[in-house]
Amino acid sequence: MQPRSIKTKLTLSIGAFFVLLVVVAVSAIVGIGGVTRNATDINEKWLAATQMLGDLSNRITEARLSENNRALAKNAAEAQSAEDDTVALQHKVEDILRVYVEILGNDMPRQEVKAVVAAWNNYKEQHAAWDIGDPTLQQDRARPDSPQHQGYEQAHEAVDRLIKASLASANVRAARAERIGRNTIQSVTLLAIVGALLTLLLIREVRVHIANPLAAITAAASRLAAGSRDLRIPEISRDDEIGEMAKAFEVFRANASALEEAQRLANSLARHDALTGLPNRRLFAAELDAALVDARDTGNGFTVMLVDLDRFKPVNDLQGHAAGDSVLCEVAVRLQDLVGKAGTVARLGGDEFAIITQARAPEHLLDLAMRLAGRIVAGIREPMTPAGCRIEIGASVGIALCPSDGVDAEALIRAADLAMYRAKQDGRGTFRFFEQSMDQDLRDKAALEADFRAALASGKIEPFYQPLVDIDTARICGFEVLARWNHAERGFISPDTFIPIAEQLGLIGDLTSRILRQACRDSRGWAGIKLALNISPAQFQDAALPTLLLSIMIAEGFPPERLEVEVTESALVGDLEAAKATLLALQQIGVQVALDDFGTGYSSLYHLREMKFDKIKIDRSFVQSMVANPESEKIVDAVLGLAKSLGMPTVAEGIESADIMQRLADRGCTFGQGYLFSRAVPAASAEALIVEHRSEPERRSA
Ligand code: C2E
Ligand code: CA
Ligand code: CA
Repeated sequence: MQPRSIKTKLTLSIGAFFVLLVVVAVSAIVGIGGVTRNATDINEKWLAATQMLGDLSNRITEARLSENNRALAKNAAEAQSAEDDTVALQHKVEDILRVYVEILGNDMPRQEVKAVVAAWNNYKEQHAAWDIGDPTLQQDRARPDSPQHQGYEQAHEAVDRLIKASLASANVRAARAERIGRNTIQSVTLLAIVGALLTLLLIREVRVHIANPLAAITAAASRLAAGSRDLRIPEISRDDEIGEMAKAFEVFRANASALEEAQRLANSLARHDALTGLPNRRLFAAELDAALVDARDTGNGFTVMLVDLDRFKPVNDLQGHAAGDSVLCEVAVRLQDLVGKAGTVARLGGDEFAIITQARAPEHLLDLAMRLAGRIVAGIREPMTPAGCRIEIGASVGIALCPSDGVDAEALIRAADLAMYRAKQDGRGTFRFFEQSMDQDLRDKAALEADFRAALASGKIEPFYQPLVDIDTARICGFEVLARWNHAERGFISPDTFIPIAEQLGLIGDLTSRILRQACRDSRGWAGIKLALNISPAQFQDAALPTLLLSIMIAEGFPPERLEVEVTESALVGDLEAAKATLLALQQIGVQVALDDFGTGYSSLYHLREMKFDKIKIDRSFVQSMVANPESEKIVDAVLGLAKSLGMPTVAEGIESADIMQRLADRGCTFGQGYLFSRAVPAASAEALIVEHRSEPERRSA
């Protein structure tokens, strides 16, 4: 198993190496010290001492020669002189011996020194015992067999033995020094070899386990930094710092690829519609820019088409969002099939799609666009069967050509949008090319919107009142409040024109409040007369509506029981629950709710059963065609029968003739409204009508 940490490993290796170095150095120093000490020893002590011993031996011999001179002296003077020499030499001998002992100290060969001292003392005693006076004896003393000479020889031999012993000791020292030197050289060499081997090993270890892996990881990291993600980080299984580093890089690699994948996905999501998978508005804008650049470079034109689905909202409202989604997906598939590789299909949002198509030859552009648009209109018209139920929708297509209708994205989209709007206006299920006049129409619309804002703010939009008459008694029992805008230049503008504008501008709530407030004030003196207020479908779904109406009525002192709200069936689809809640809340505060324009919209019995309306208003188109069209008469009959069975009063609107009035009276219709009685009139005229009608039935009964 590897040590966990490279640091520890390196520290241990370098530590061991260092210890080895210290050992080498110390042993070298110790060895050299030993050799030096021994050499100095030999030089300073043993050589000097051994030389001294040679000197000593010579002095003893000289002393013996002096003795001989004394023995052979011819006269006393000579004898005395020789004796003096001998004594002097004896002193020298003893001096040398003393110095020898001092130099060697404890190292001296004791035995041999003792023997020399003993032999010397003996020799000196022989000399001291010399009889000076006897001349015969004198000569004998010179003879080799004399005690004198024997003493000398013994001393000489003792000195020789000492010399031998000294030399032997010196040799021992020299041998020791040599041995130490040899040992030192050997061990230092050995340690140096071991050190060199260790160094090589360390270098190899560092190379194999640190330098090479680091180089490999660095190479991988460089490739990682350069963007490559499918690589393998080396050394990942190691459990030391390098392994940790490799693991960290691996984590980085994994995170980076995950991030890139997420970015790629987010990018794709950001540029594609989640439902259909088609390019979204953003990507479409980019494609359009690219097409513009291409058109500028090549001179080739292209077309921008906006495709808006017809009758899609009812699918969503009535069949549910799942069905709506399936329809959108089916439309996406059909559009892609129809456009093919010739262009790009995008979903801009809701039920709006956009297409860019290019043509190689600009002169074919118009022709190609016309044929493609025709195929799209026909293709979308084909019935669809998501989840088994048959759905029929349509498409209105607006077409703009680049460069003739615009050379920038905004202009082209605007042009295509205007053309699409025109296709809708012209009955839907068709396509239109952009024309310059459409631009003027749009400007007119913008001007009207501005005028409307100003009119609403300055109270130029006022309530008019159209009587609701009890068919049995011919009495006015209420008024429908209808908004009127008398435009300074254009005269009366129809609510059918400005109500949608108010809705688009988000001002419908404002309009309702102003109309109701004014109506409350106008009708203050109209005792027993009800007011019927129209509420737009969108506003009816707003949970704040009942509170809004109530606060105005309270402020104006108008009893809620006198108010009736008219809504069309389109207020119920979409969020039926919200509509139900509004209906109940209104009824709880005492406001009645009438179902307007019955027969034109969805005319769903489901709505009548689910929601308890207080009244049904039969749409004027049926009422007015009752005489000419037997179908309409049947429908009116059916609605009246239905209302009766549900116990609900009915209002027939659009009564213009007494004939129709009579037919409705015969069929048991409860209330009537129409030009036969009165058009919508200003408050003052309405008051006059009340007075007039009050007296009329009285006149009748009278
Ligand atoms: P609506 O609720 O169906 O209103 C009845 C419409 O029928 C009125 O048109 C009225 O003038 C017209 N009318 C009444 N009797 C006859 C008749 O005998 N013959 C003919 N040909 N028409 C008759 P108007 O005033 O143009 O209103 C159109 C629509 O505008 C209304 O239809 C209503 O939906 C909407 N509207 C009007 N005022 C308001 C308002 O204050 N708020 C909201 N949200 N919508 C309003
Ligand atoms: Ca109405
Ligand atoms: Ca109506």
